[in-house]
Amino acid sequence: MTGSESRVAIVTGASRGIGAAVARRLAADGLTTIVNYAGSADAAAKVVDSIERAGGRAISAQADVSDAQAVKRMFDAAEDAFGGVDVLVNNAGIMRLATVAESHDALFDQTIAINLKGTFNSLREAARRLRQGGRIINFSSSVIGLYPPTYGVYAATKAAVEALTRILAKELGSRGVTVNAVAPGPVATELFLAGRDDATIERAKQMNPLGRLGEAEDIANVVSMLVGPDGGWINGQIVRANGGAV
Ligand code: NAP
Repeated sequence: MTGSESRVAIVTGASRGIGAAVARRLAADGLTTIVNYAGSADAAAKVVDSIERAGGRAISAQADVSDAQAVKRMFDAAEDAFGGVDVLVNNAGIMRLATVAESHDALFDQTIAINLKGTFNSLREAARRLRQGGRIINFSSSVIGLYPPTYGVYAATKAAVEALTRILAKELGSRGVTVNAVAPGPVATELFLAGRDDATIERAKQMNPLGRLGEAEDIANVVSMLVGPDGGWINGQIVRANGGAV
């Protein structure tokens, strides 16, 4: 990469919610952005379109992150199109809630496959390929620290992601690559809002001293800082972006 070329970022799960806000923000910061999605092709195309209309550079890339070969192909395509990858934002995730007693096998297997194996699949490709000085941002959650009932399987995947974050930071330091995780509190996206009534949402707002839900852009701001020049000395950390909830 020469100094005049923009850095290249893959953002997983960027067709909506936090990932879409991160993709838009990194593109506005000047990065060429790969908008990954699993099934929502139209939504991903709209994110790419909004980036291009704002003067940024982006493409969409379908890949189910739980499929190691599909993730490999996405990195291959990014390298073919743009010469390399500098940033991975490992955002794709699902949240299915149930007590341990009521968690069925499909809930467990799907959550592990996407949140843990999916994160791992992208981390492995990034660990092998990210260019010198690269940045990796994983996604945990502030349920680590709060440990609310019904979040058992979801929280278990995020605890594992935090462990991978700290260890990979030690493995990649010699290449100047930093590895951090962002752990949001409740953010007003489909993942959090779907199926919740007004009273539950109001309680979630009152969990932090600022008295509101996070917005996807609040989290994109944190990712932008970690990816940008001001974040270079932050490494192996879990940044709890939750308005002060925990
Ligand atoms: P969201 O609105 O539900 O969006 C999820 C995104 O992930 C979508 O773009 C979806 O795309 C994609 N996705 C799902 N499964 C995928 C797969 N197998 N492969 C590739 N992409 C996949 O979720 P969000 O609230 O933005 O959450 C983003 C991340 O933040 C997650 O890791 C979540 O655990 C974490 N988080 C969220 C909150 C919150 O309150 N919202 C709090 C803490 C942590 P398709 O539709 O194409 O599948």
